[in-house]
Amino acid sequence: MKYLSTRGDPTPRRFSEILLEGLAPDGGLYLPQRYPQVDAATLAKWRSLDYAELAFEILSLYIDDIPAEDLRALVRRTYTAKVFGTQAIVPLKPLADGISLEALSNGPTLAFKDMAMQLLGQLFEYELGRRGQTLNILGATSGDTGSAAEYAMRGKKGVNVFMLSPHGRMSPFQQAQMFSLQDANIHNLAVEGVFDDCQDIVKAVSNDLDFKRKYRIGTVNSINWARLLAQVVYYFAGYFQATKTDAEKVSFCVPSGNFGNICAGHVARMMGLPIDQLVLATNENDVLDEFFKTGRYAPRGAAETFETSSPSMDISKASNFERFVFDLLGRDAARTRELFTANGFELSPAERARIASFGFVSGRSTHADRLWTIKRCWEAHGVLIDTHTADGLKVALEQHQPGTPMLVLETALPAKFAETIREAVGIEPPRPAGLENIEALPKRFEVMPADTAAVKQFIVRHVEL
Ligand SMILES: *Cc1c(COP(=O)(O)O)cnc(C)c1O
Repeated sequence: MKYLSTRGDPTPRRFSEILLEGLAPDGGLYLPQRYPQVDAATLAKWRSLDYAELAFEILSLYIDDIPAEDLRALVRRTYTAKVFGTQAIVPLKPLADGISLEALSNGPTLAFKDMAMQLLGQLFEYELGRRGQTLNILGATSGDTGSAAEYAMRGKKGVNVFMLSPHGRMSPFQQAQMFSLQDANIHNLAVEGVFDDCQDIVKAVSNDLDFKRKYRIGTVNSINWARLLAQVVYYFAGYFQATKTDAEKVSFCVPSGNFGNICAGHVARMMGLPIDQLVLATNENDVLDEFFKTGRYAPRGAAETFETSSPSMDISKASNFERFVFDLLGRDAARTRELFTANGFELSPAERARIASFGFVSGRSTHADRLWTIKRCWEAHGVLIDTHTADGLKVALEQHQPGTPMLVLETALPAKFAETIREAVGIEPPRPAGLENIEALPKRFEVMPADTAAVKQFIVRHVEL
């Protein structure tokens, strides 16, 4: 399998070449040259596999430059009941009327990002070892991504993590999760500023190409193809749990921000998984809902992005969206480049008419909707959900078609967003065993001014050349 860029760079690349990279050199995103097709016989065979074996089968279709036995071992080490809490890894929790939650948040940081990041940690260690190289991951986080990256990379050979977060602005639980890590290769930098300051510093360091090369700076952001590929697996796993035969279809509802999670659903559907609808849910930051309703894409700046109670979806420029638009346009790279180098765009009526054939519909949710949905789900079903999953369930209830099972992806556990849970139902969300007193653990972090030079100096002091 070779990979191409959504903006037309003609160089075909293999999986290991794009694994450690972000954007393609022409500014596009990597996609496989074609989507492998999964026929009825294959689906029937896969139905009885355990999660790790299913992941191996799917990844093998896209990765042909890692020996099969090595890949199988990496995947087996990643998806264990010990790390993800159950043998099923992503069990379904039925609510009512054909609507279920698919539990993706039982990994170490209690959010679905562990599903992909844990595999990425294994793949990075493997590939760097094979090349005899090291990598220094630099990132900015307001919560979920940074902790998922740190828990995936902790103790991994050849990898250091330098994670910037806004000092004093994460929740005490999130701070404790990240800052309690004592691994020598994990560095928490608490920047005296807001999240945008952290992101600006990461950009400034990455734009210094000499520094970037000399100190081997890399990222783990959501445009990484390997992360997206890992997420394709749980669409298949959810489908097999919700159906008895592949004559049946299911729909998925996905709380969305950067369009990474639902883009994996799109890939699964393109491979032939019988998905009826892909329902995209946003919060008040509803750029993508507007697109799917009108064909108009109007990304917003940081100043027009609302801070909400589902903060991991407070995104107004969805970094993976270009992948879907490329497919929507029949893989016309010139047109994709034209649209994404402008500051927003509007599809032609003919282009817009194609959206339905890809199964996409959308809806949005507000803080009041989240509170109501969390309360209703708790009172009617005895199931406590987090704020992001609540955005999904609210929209799923609007879009659900009787007769077609609807799986709402549970993207975080309520323990991560205790304040809104207390507001909605007046109780303290339970924490998984072992995390009860996490705030009391010793913390390891360095406070820094919001200054690129200071961050560079810190990296220089902590990296062996
Ligand atoms: C990252 C995240 C999302 C958004 O996922 P995308 O892949 O960016 O669309 C939703 N919910 C939670 C809890 C997240 O951490």
